[in-house]
Amino acid sequence: MLTIAQALDRCMAVALPVTTESVALDRAVGRVLAADVVATASLPPWDNSAMDGFAVRAADTQGPDGGDDCDAPAPVGAADGVVLRVLETIAAGAVPTCTVTAGTASRIMTGAPMPPGADAVVMREQSRDLDGDRVLLSGRAGIGQHVRRQGEEVRPGDVVLRAGTTITPGAVGLCASLGRPTLRVARQPRVAVLSTGDEVVPIDRPLGPGQIWSSNGHALRAWVAEAGALPIDCGIAPDDLDGTRAAFQRALDTAPDFILSTGGVSVGDFDVVKQVMSEARPDGETAIDYWKVRMKPGKPLAFGRIGGVPTFGLPGNPVSCQVGFLQFVRPVLRRSLGLARPFLPVRPAVLTHDQRKRPGRAELVRVTLRFGADGLLATPTGSQGSGQSSSMAMAHGLVLLPADGEGALAGATVAVQVFRWDFGDGADSALPVDL
Ligand code: AMP
Ligand code: MG
Repeated sequence: MLTIAQALDRCMAVALPVTTESVALDRAVGRVLAADVVATASLPPWDNSAMDGFAVRAADTQGPDGGDDCDAPAPVGAADGVVLRVLETIAAGAVPTCTVTAGTASRIMTGAPMPPGADAVVMREQSRDLDGDRVLLSGRAGIGQHVRRQGEEVRPGDVVLRAGTTITPGAVGLCASLGRPTLRVARQPRVAVLSTGDEVVPIDRPLGPGQIWSSNGHALRAWVAEAGALPIDCGIAPDDLDGTRAAFQRALDTAPDFILSTGGVSVGDFDVVKQVMSEARPDGETAIDYWKVRMKPGKPLAFGRIGGVPTFGLPGNPVSCQVGFLQFVRPVLRRSLGLARPFLPVRPAVLTHDQRKRPGRAELVRVTLRFGADGLLATPTGSQGSGQSSSMAMAHGLVLLPADGEGALAGATVAVQVFRWDFGDGADSALPVDL
């Protein structure tokens, strides 16, 4: 039986080469950049004021001894500052019309272009209007004070965002400030999701005796979307060969990049998915690469191709299904998006309760996480039955217990594969820092 690492290796081989498309900036968040974003403009685009205040020559604010421009008329000194003549008011969006010379200043608003001649801004809070056109400035300014220089943040040719990274709201803002209305992103893989089982019914039907709703179909489509790919609902197949074949054909007809099925892949009398996967078909290669992985939950997991399309036959038990998805399908989808590191992060955490196991299979234990004083604390979600989808709904991650070990005791440091970060430290305050 393959180990998780061996099975993962084989799956990663079917990740797609990245193909790209262009998206409007407002639809780009969460997508993966397919090309570096190279600035074609400067940020800021021109020198501008960082404050509401007065654009001045810094030398004028240094008092009688300051400055180096001996030919210019000296500004009028006042006991508590310097008096300058105001030339104009420059609003954001306006263009300055006057050159600031010795003894003068222009009133300027935040974001307005610096007028020629000025090399600093004195903030409004350090000024007092004397009469219509003179101002008393009490603050001394060094050259460049409160001035945002053209290109100080970004220059043309700078790589501001890298291919293979996920576009964040901050990245969207940066692109907009550089005038980029569209971005080149990885095309999202199309993932057909098929449930199987005579007992499984769609959620909009009332349950008959012995029936359950297809929670796996919904959970898988949600995980596919979370991974950044496009889920396609291919319905529910009955537990017979013809019906299952027809359902896989329906899945193929949606032109998917990958097919996921759930259920029917174990050793039950009606588990026909493996057989359908291993049948030769006229329309293309069909092969089963492996079946069964040395893990718990999720041992029965078939991986192969149907009609040439990489196909994952995930187990029917809800937890096994989702854990199998996270171990094998998610990394393939993330790699197919061009992400350099397609795997979930693994972090050390201290276990709060004993978690024993028998040697044989690797165990992936659902845990909730919280921040302790010295790092992460991991608490098992309770019963680890593979049918209990509530444990997946609660969990932030999976403790990875090696196949050959006997588990871990409370207080031990274990490796946790984290798939959710919305946990805290048990305290409720919005800002646990005195600000
Ligand atoms: P199977 O792998 O088909 O033997 O199914 C194993 C268990 O998972 C059974 O209890 C099924 O009823 C259950 N199961 C199978 N498919 C689904 C599904 N789509 N949603 C929820 N539970 C399912
Ligand atoms: Mg079944």
